[in-house]
Amino acid sequence: MRIFDPHIHMTSRTTDDYERMAAAGVRAVVEPSFWLGQPRTSAASFTDYFDSLIGWEPFRAGQFGVRHFATVALNPKEANDPRCRPVLDLLPRYLDKDAVVAVGEIGYDSMTPEEDEAFAAQLALAVAYDLPALVHTPHRDKARGCERTLAVVAESGIEAGRVVVDHLNEVTVKLVRDSGCWLGFSIYPDTKMTPSRMVELLREYGTERMLVNSAADWGRSDPLLTRATGEAMLAAGFSDDDVDRVLWRNPVEFYGQSGRLDLSDLDVTAKVDPQTGNSILRGGS
Ligand SMILES: [Zn+2]
Repeated sequence: MRIFDPHIHMTSRTTDDYERMAAAGVRAVVEPSFWLGQPRTSAASFTDYFDSLIGWEPFRAGQFGVRHFATVALNPKEANDPRCRPVLDLLPRYLDKDAVVAVGEIGYDSMTPEEDEAFAAQLALAVAYDLPALVHTPHRDKARGCERTLAVVAESGIEAGRVVVDHLNEVTVKLVRDSGCWLGFSIYPDTKMTPSRMVELLREYGTERMLVNSAADWGRSDPLLTRATGEAMLAAGFSDDDVDRVLWRNPVEFYGQSGRLDLSDLDVTAKVDPQTGNSILRGGS
């Protein structure tokens, strides 16, 4: 099983995680920029963070054979802090970098006027830099947050096919499906989606434009839940090809729209295990 985790915050994970992920088949990740738990007090703090996302973290991932890409943005929560807003002026410098494959995470946290403004400004940046956009949806008041998100996306003029709306669930899946945007699902140990609920949604809505991520960060989360979802799909009767589409080809197609997704020299050729008939990877199963 080859896995591309399209949304994971590796900065807050250990090398043990990289080791376990590589062994489980994770070969590539996208790390969206986000808040750090502790509020930042200046734009300079973002500069160091972004530099680490395109410098140190890809190096760390590379030691385990994992290809690392990033997305940069002023996140929805800190869009409300006037000390952080100046980072909007620093973004263009990073949106030119090859390691940056989208603008994100942008969108809503509490749906304030400040968030409206930062969201629209960053969708405009995505259009200007010809990059896809990764959109976070609020964890409270989900349906309303999702409707408003889709309205702002439509108004921005960005192509729906270049936007992933993330952290979806049973309440918001249909709205986003009908919008033409990509659908992101974060699988968590005890909140948001679980592997079995995800399998039900894949059964109902199919595998097209569906992205599954672990969104693992500094909170209680599990970077192997992408793999667990793949296993749950197989157990429910989905084929190896369906799993490969959701866990590998879909994220490659979505972020490939950046023109910067270099996966060359990565050992991701599917090989078949002569005993089980399942596809395997060197160094992982
Ligand atoms: Zn995130």
